[in-house]
Amino acid sequence: MQGSQLFRILDSIKKRQMRRIQTLLLLILSLLFIRCTTNKEVDLIVFNAKVYTVDSAFRQVEAFAIKNGVFIDIGSTESIKSKYNAKASIDALGKPIYPGFYDAHAHFFMFADLLAQVDLNGSASFREVVTRLQRYQQANPDKLWIVGGGWDQNLWKDKSFPNKDSLDKYFPNTAVFLSRVDYHAALVNAKAIELAKLDSNEKVDGGVIGKDSLGHLTGILVDNAISLVSRYIPDPEERERLLSLRKAQDSLLSVGLTTIVDAGLSSEELEQLKKFYQQDSLKIRDYAMVAGNPTNIDRAINDGFYETDRLSIRSIKLMADGALGSRGACLLDHYHDAPSRGFLLHSPEEFDAVIKKLAASNYQVNTHAIGDSANRLILDTYGKYLKNGEKRRWRIEHAQIISPNDFTKFAQFHIIPSVQPTHATSDMYWAEERLGPDRMKGAYAYKDLLEQYGKLALGSDFPVEHFNPLYGFHAAVARVDKTGFPQQGFQMENAISREQALRGMTTWAAFSCFQEKKRGSIEPGKDADFVILDDDIMIAPVEQLRTIKTLQTVIAGETVFQR
Ligand SMILES: [Zn+2]
Repeated sequence: MQGSQLFRILDSIKKRQMRRIQTLLLLILSLLFIRCTTNKEVDLIVFNAKVYTVDSAFRQVEAFAIKNGVFIDIGSTESIKSKYNAKASIDALGKPIYPGFYDAHAHFFMFADLLAQVDLNGSASFREVVTRLQRYQQANPDKLWIVGGGWDQNLWKDKSFPNKDSLDKYFPNTAVFLSRVDYHAALVNAKAIELAKLDSNEKVDGGVIGKDSLGHLTGILVDNAISLVSRYIPDPEERERLLSLRKAQDSLLSVGLTTIVDAGLSSEELEQLKKFYQQDSLKIRDYAMVAGNPTNIDRAINDGFYETDRLSIRSIKLMADGALGSRGACLLDHYHDAPSRGFLLHSPEEFDAVIKKLAASNYQVNTHAIGDSANRLILDTYGKYLKNGEKRRWRIEHAQIISPNDFTKFAQFHIIPSVQPTHATSDMYWAEERLGPDRMKGAYAYKDLLEQYGKLALGSDFPVEHFNPLYGFHAAVARVDKTGFPQQGFQMENAISREQALRGMTTWAAFSCFQEKKRGSIEPGKDADFVILDDDIMIAPVEQLRTIKTLQTVIAGETVFQR
């Protein structure tokens, strides 16, 4: 073989190899290109933002991409813009973005119904209550019942409970039913008493039928006595109910709420809610608790969980006691300003039986407990029956007054404290009158509770308090009212940090609803629920926190509110 021949053969092999390498390279490149272009198509990118992801490291990013209602990527504006081709985009102009806010304890139906009734919140006197009722009656002259809610005698000059005679003067022929602001007491007039066939001999457990020194009805009904009259009020028609719910929803979306926890609905209300969501008539996500009466509980256990994208039913709400304002909270020792100790709404034996039954089911149990006695009973009964407490995530709603010996039980039994920071700043003016100085140390003690469990679920309890979650954020970190009172803050040792408060209304609240894997933070794979605010709640001066506006609210990638 000649040298030149060998060279030609070698050369042709080299060329063939080169071609093969070239083809291979081309193939790899085109595959990469196809991969890139398919990845690039997304529904929405948001950039130029200060995104608080609220992930475990509390990371901040500038941008994210959304496809099919889910975050698929987060990062810098540059990386997100270069990686994705979006059908729509939002330039956030440097504004802060947070995961969609949760309200971990609220009353959506009550709030909606109130919109069709007389809103008495903030009435500065009983005279003002009457004026609002008269205005309503003029606009609705055919109503057989006037129903209202939100009065609070603590805002009035003499701070004493109202009496039905003061209503009868103005409304002799129309039944009037007025819930107190905490919904644990009601004032009714003579006509309502007549329609409900209530008389002064009637007895009730776990409630009070108000009577004067002569044994005559005063028109005040507390806790379990309320339903003796309220059950005669006609329910709103379904169409009317939906209109009110949608109106309520608009208000909630306008303050950045994307998920609310509905703390206790009847079977009928839950059926209505399922229907409304199936018809796609509501957008906000609802974690609805079943109001725990025996019929509802048996039905829930029998039916099992109901979980869709927007509506989740897998928990039972129990009520241990009443509220502090109406002295229905059950205390270990008597009230500082009255000889009574309040009361439980059911006997300890009944709580024992129902909690035992629910521990054997797979339902979450969330119990309203305000007084230190009610909290102790529920903690101990939970502890008695709960196996695998970490997994069950049972909650105490309010956890308002805790005896010093009972705090550790939240850690020991793995009980989530679900608290409402605005209750602290609404009650701080008179709570000590009810409790005296010693018990105040364990009251509204959110930081102490947080240190026990490691998480807090934050809510507002609307319509008992205003639905704006930033009011709760403000109260949690500054512990002052809207005027900045008291200057040094109310029991500041129990203030929590801004990061903790933000977690409480996002990822920790999601955890309290078994939703932390799909919601509560801005991370790839999670539902694209987020909110753009006008100013950054993490650094804005405390006095400005309540006035920060929501610019845009997004649920599953869809804008549901825009200013
Ligand atoms: Zn409530």
